[in-house]
Parts: sequence; C-alpha cells; structure tokens
Amino acid sequence: MTEFFSLSIPVKRGYFVYRYWLEEKCLYVGAVGVTRVGAASLINRLGRHARERSLWNEEADRIDYAVLSSQEEAKSEETAQIKFLSPRYNFDLNRCRKGLHDIRFPESRISTGKDSYGTCRECYNERMTPYLRQWKKDHPDDVKRHQETQQQRLGEEEWKRRHNKWSAEWRARQKDKAA
Ligand SMILES: [Zn+2]
Repeated sequence: MTEFFSLSIPVKRGYFVYRYWLEEKCLYVGAVGVTRVGAASLINRLGRHARERSLWNEEADRIDYAVLSSQEEAKSEETAQIKFLSPRYNFDLNRCRKGLHDIRFPESRISTGKDSYGTCRECYNERMTPYLRQWKKDHPDDVKRHQETQQQRLGEEEWKRRHNKWSAEWRARQKDKAA
C-alpha cells in the first residue's frame, strides 16, 4: 500500500515568512505577500526556489514557515528573523537569486519588468539561449530583417563596431568556459 503524507503547506494565498534550515543553521529567510501584489502563495514560492535550484534549496534539510495576518507584519517579521538568525544567503547581496552569479555591476542584471532588482543576466541567458537559438533557426527571414533594421538605425559603421565588440566578448566567454 502506498503511503500518503500531508506536508501541511497552505495552498491558499496569504502572508508568510519561511525559513530554510540545515541542521541548526538557518540558510535563508524569505517573505511572501510583501510586494504590491499583496497576499500570495507560499507553495508557489517554495516551488520556484526548487525549480531555480537556489543554493539554499539545494542545501537545506528542512523548511518551516509562519502565517502572518498582514503585509506589514510579514515584512517586519522577515526583517526581525534575518537580523536574529543572520542566514548565510540573505547577506550575500552580491549574488543573484540563485546564489550562483555575481550581480554587483549593473551590466550583470537585465530588466524584464518582473522585479525591480532586475534579473541576473547569466541566469536569463542560460534560460533563454536555447529558445533564441531555435527561434533564429526557424525564422531566418525575421533575423535578416532585424539585422537590416538595426544596421539602418545605427549606421553601418556603428553596427559593425558593436557587432565586432559583441563577437569578441562572446568568443572570450566561450574561451573562459572551455578553460
Ligand atoms: Zn544568476
């Protein structure tokens, strides 16, 4: 007989503070429902950390959470918990949400309109590159038209200059990766 377990993580939207633990050490504290959208889903948030393979998600041996009654409460509880527990990954403000990349420089972030911090460019590229490559293969005419429009807009000299710069950067990055 298969056994079923109740994980007791609420499905309904609300205000939450959640913590990732490894033994007695808190790795990460987060809050749900503190953005302007208001009450949100804890399950979705935890699922996102898992999908993104955040370092705290990969390292933790358990998660706990508290239910708060308002956005203000959730915010101040999150702050208090972070101050009290000093979770390793909350203080690494130089790292992206996955904890994998350095995001100190503005160029390392990309604005997708989803959050005000901007998304990590490396993560974004990792996610999008296969789609873009396929899309380019499937739409050669669009790619050509886009190139022509860009060339017209920038002037041939400027377009060539940028194109060469990007190509050089790209080759350098491939070299880095191979090393
Ligand atoms: Zn990243």
